[in-house]
Amino acid sequence: MKDVLLFTDVNGIAGWGRYGGSYKVATELRKAGFTVQTIDVFGEWTVDELKLLIDKFVDKNTLYVGFSNSLMVKQPTDKDYPTACVGTNIEPISHAYAQMFSQPDSIMWDLFKYIKNKGTKIVVGGAKAGYSQSFEEVDYWVVGEGDVSAVTLAQSFKTGKEFKTVDTKLLLETDYPYLDCEHSEIIWDKSDLLFPREALPIEFSRGCPFRCSFCRAPNIGRKRGTRSVRHEVLREQLFRNYENFGTVDYMVSDSLTNETPEKIINLHKAITSLPFKLELSAHFRLDLLSKNKFERELIEEMGVKVAFFGIETFHTEASKIIGKNFTREKAIENLNFLKEGWKNKVRIRASFIVGLPAEPEKSIWETFKWCTSKDCPLDGFSFYPLSVGDPDRFGLKTSLFDASPEKFGIRKLRYRVPAKFWEWETDQMTYSRALNICKEMAKELTEHNPISETFLGRIVNLGYSLEDIINRKYDSKEFGPRRRKLIEAYKHNLIHGE
Ligand code: SF4
Repeated sequence: MKDVLLFTDVNGIAGWGRYGGSYKVATELRKAGFTVQTIDVFGEWTVDELKLLIDKFVDKNTLYVGFSNSLMVKQPTDKDYPTACVGTNIEPISHAYAQMFSQPDSIMWDLFKYIKNKGTKIVVGGAKAGYSQSFEEVDYWVVGEGDVSAVTLAQSFKTGKEFKTVDTKLLLETDYPYLDCEHSEIIWDKSDLLFPREALPIEFSRGCPFRCSFCRAPNIGRKRGTRSVRHEVLREQLFRNYENFGTVDYMVSDSLTNETPEKIINLHKAITSLPFKLELSAHFRLDLLSKNKFERELIEEMGVKVAFFGIETFHTEASKIIGKNFTREKAIENLNFLKEGWKNKVRIRASFIVGLPAEPEKSIWETFKWCTSKDCPLDGFSFYPLSVGDPDRFGLKTSLFDASPEKFGIRKLRYRVPAKFWEWETDQMTYSRALNICKEMAKELTEHNPISETFLGRIVNLGYSLEDIINRKYDSKEFGPRRRKLIEAYKHNLIHGE
């Protein structure tokens, strides 16, 4: 039996991969002396299997059963994966956020009752926690970063100590901030059932010093150069994962890896002094890289194999509005500079937003045409429609566009249910048109665009090297059965293991 049972999932995308946030919370709980069983691929279990796991790990002494829903979406069908994999399944992903868990609501109600009958509390954390409290059985919702709240709850349930809530059920990140990013690490436990050489998420630092107008990433606009993991802690973690699991592939979870030249210099120093080589995929800002050109070499040397750039637009005015300040010529010049140095050793991926204020449709198609041209330095790209939602109650996941769309020339027309985004219009476009443009592009992209950057580590986990799959398209016939086999092995080990 365990003190805490933690359900997690990353079910909207292809392959196999873990959500770092859930395992970070498990690490904090274990460090505080609690026993934790993580249960991954939540959406893949049947109700009977889930009840069996609850019987196996939960008794009256269990402090709570937690659900980490940041990357839980409506369970995709096999048909959805190919487009999800190239980053072009526009509607399904945005719609998916309307669903709180990766199991349908009817199953959740049944499951919650089952857990309650054991006399155990239910806690839900993750990006969607606190948006809606429509599940009455949930005792507490952890809103924002859960590193401290998760431990506070376990300690309070054990000792009866009081803790602070808002509206009796919400624990806010602002009341329980995580102040120890310097020592942030995930300690993977044997009971997490990692596969040999599994590609893992890793955090070099949290948050981002910028505040691009469309961005809802957590902890943006923070002080530059803060919330970074100490290099001794990082190296120790990399060593431990290498020795215990043979891991060298990492999906870097930083919203922005090159926020300062010092960060890149220090990471390069820490990583290149390891006795083994890493393979990383990570997010960068193109404008910063073009100011600090020397970083090109360091990034390659530290093992980045896939560099991802959220360029969003080549339109000068639109770029200014979102806070990226590019001209088409400058952005292309910088991408060519990177390609010249990196050749095929570091693959370059980029994403663009369709429908930004001030950008006419003609300019978007011009960008698309350039992306698909023979000499384009990009190895992969995706286009998404601009989404405008409602500001969240605590301002933790709200973009500037969400907060004051009218300031940017965006007019809200009607609420799209169940997508939970606004149909909007600007002087140039509507959301519906932006969505259709993306769909038109998606038809072409699925034909030739390789697997999107975010998912490469997840496909590596199906039993490939990065080189094997870096330029491949999603192949459901080959990847699907491999994924299913992994899931079955994981389920078997969890049900029949100690
Ligand atoms: S888009 Fe990237 S650079 Fe801009 S605020 Fe978000 S994470 Fe930071």
